[in-house]
Amino acid sequence: MPSKPKRHHAPGALTKRASLQRVHDAPKQTTTERGYGWQWQKLRKRVLSEEPLCRACAEEGLVTTAAEIDHIDGNSHNNARDNLRPLCRPCHLQRTAKDQAFGKMQWRPEWLRHSTIPLTIVCGPPASGKSSYVAKHAQPGDLVIDLDVIASHLSGQSLHGWDRGQWLVPAIRTRNEMLGDIGRPTRQWARAWLIVSEAKAELRQWWADKLAPQKIVVLETPASVCIERVRQDAERKRDSNFETIARWWEAYTRRDGDVVVR
Ligand SMILES: [Zn+2]
Repeated sequence: MPSKPKRHHAPGALTKRASLQRVHDAPKQTTTERGYGWQWQKLRKRVLSEEPLCRACAEEGLVTTAAEIDHIDGNSHNNARDNLRPLCRPCHLQRTAKDQAFGKMQWRPEWLRHSTIPLTIVCGPPASGKSSYVAKHAQPGDLVIDLDVIASHLSGQSLHGWDRGQWLVPAIRTRNEMLGDIGRPTRQWARAWLIVSEAKAELRQWWADKLAPQKIVVLETPASVCIERVRQDAERKRDSNFETIARWWEAYTRRDGDVVVR
């Protein structure tokens, strides 16, 4: 069976080498040399005109012009529109390597189901006070789903200083398992809390549709306050946080029904 799907291969040295190979080869080969040809160029152009921004950056609240098209399932023959996503070059290189090393990262898993327990989603820029808000309102017996906490547990690194390059993918996977857990009948927790940054109304709506939370709280903490908190906290990386705070506020849109905290 020469065309066995890639995901059935055991992860190991070969996969790792293959991904490095692909990354190193990418800049040297033209698309024609890779065998995509003219049809692909047309399709590529169409996708980039429909969606000119890097989708991976957008998921992190960043606005970056896309330059390349990624096959989401890793199969370069599957040119269905919903299998194609525009990415900037750094994201494309990073995702290609990571996807092959760890399996696909799912920021917003399509398979999520409505929460069976009362759920509150808390959104806001970095250092807006999301964790503190949850700590203040959650009760013993509540489940708190916070990517920083998960990554910190997995890595043994600090809450805001964990290495995203190394721990983001495993942390997302664990978070998604927890989100899967609250979609099944459970007596383990009384209530659940989910922390996501989500600046855009339509993305908070996506979570609302998927998980059917009781409410979504948005912390409209001014950028100046967030920046000052980052300054005071030696753990938080300054430049990347300043950038993300600014991008969050640029991208922020209000959604009817959100509980706004200022
Ligand atoms: Zn990007």
